Amino acid sequence: MILPGKTIGILGGGQLGRMLAQAATQLGYHVHVFEPVGLSPAGELARKEVNAPYEDLAALTAFARECDVVTYEFENVPAGPLRAIEELTRLQPHRLVLQTCQNRSREKNWLKESGFPHARFVEFQPAAGGATPPDGAPADLAAAIRQVGLPCVVKTADFGYDGKGQLKVTDEAGIAAAAARFAGQPVVIEQFVTFEREVSVVVARTVGGEVRAFPVTENLHANHILDVSIVPARVPSAVAEAARRLACDLAGKIGLVGVLGVEMFVTSGGDILVNELAPRTHNSGHWTLDACATSQFEQQVRAICGLPLGSVEVKSPVVMVNLLGEVWARGEPDWAGLLAQDGVKLHLYGKAEARPGRKMGHFTVRAPDVVEALALAQACKQRLIGS
Ligand code: AMP
Repeated sequence: MILPGKTIGILGGGQLGRMLAQAATQLGYHVHVFEPVGLSPAGELARKEVNAPYEDLAALTAFARECDVVTYEFENVPAGPLRAIEELTRLQPHRLVLQTCQNRSREKNWLKESGFPHARFVEFQPAAGGATPPDGAPADLAAAIRQVGLPCVVKTADFGYDGKGQLKVTDEAGIAAAAARFAGQPVVIEQFVTFEREVSVVVARTVGGEVRAFPVTENLHANHILDVSIVPARVPSAVAEAARRLACDLAGKIGLVGVLGVEMFVTSGGDILVNELAPRTHNSGHWTLDACATSQFEQQVRAICGLPLGSVEVKSPVVMVNLLGEVWARGEPDWAGLLAQDGVKLHLYGKAEARPGRKMGHFTVRAPDVVEALALAQACKQRLIGS
């Protein structure tokens, strides 16, 4: 057990690291942040911020020496250099969990081999120097797309999140466009799922094997980026229970120590398909800060430090709204107007530049029922954009 007073190292200095640092310092831990770019949202709240590239082994080693446990808040941390950390201190979740989740091909193959439901997919790896593809492998991207069938979604195997590096293909012109856009890159081609709802579950697991899943969150996306999260999710209770069970099974099977976000599609027939895994806290779990007995960030601290996991009891229906850079288009939004509203909590991440698509903050709205919370949240967002 790593007790309060010890030091937690966080790789990545974004908003997830910032909220983790808040939870960790509340519990009396010290926080060190490793982040390539200075003055990061998490670094602002840490005792120490190290600014160096993730590949800088000397800097990583010095960082690890000062930490009792190291975790990550960003899944595109290169996994190779993390071996240096493992030799010096605990890295949670394990490097192999990160490696599985950060590459779509590995992730999909792991889901398939482990027996978790997912959309049908085909991988396509361009052959080096015009070499002949192995037996049964598609000759080119167009052939791979035809193997999956239309409509489908082509996704880069590496560095994809928030819809980055993906293209929906519906016709022949789209196949040509995908071939041009993804030339030379390894990709995964997935069947397009006509889902009824998108949901997610954040699950935590300790080194001792205790597992707890937060209640299921329903997610609405805009331009492939999470826009709104709704709790309780508007799915039948049997589906919600199945989604939570699936997340717990998955956490055990992958050997998680920490927290993991599991994104899923729910079809009109009530089937669940896993879309993506993120071995860290998840944007769709931010509501737990204001409407749950334990936040996902506190749960992450508990899980990686070997403390007992906290209660996941929900206090009331809640809706979370992401605030992207666009909200600043007409200058600083009217925060006073937002905060005058009962039941609203605002979280800003301290980022100086409001670029379009950049996650700058979020707010939550609690109400006695979910319909009311959603209506109020939408009205608040409208006022913020209009202000
Ligand atoms: P991802 O980066 O894989 O999480 O994808 C971002 C969003 O794109 C998802 O949350 C879905 O809204 C949509 N999406 C991704 N893959 C598919 C798919 N196979 N079928 C339908 N929609 C998808």
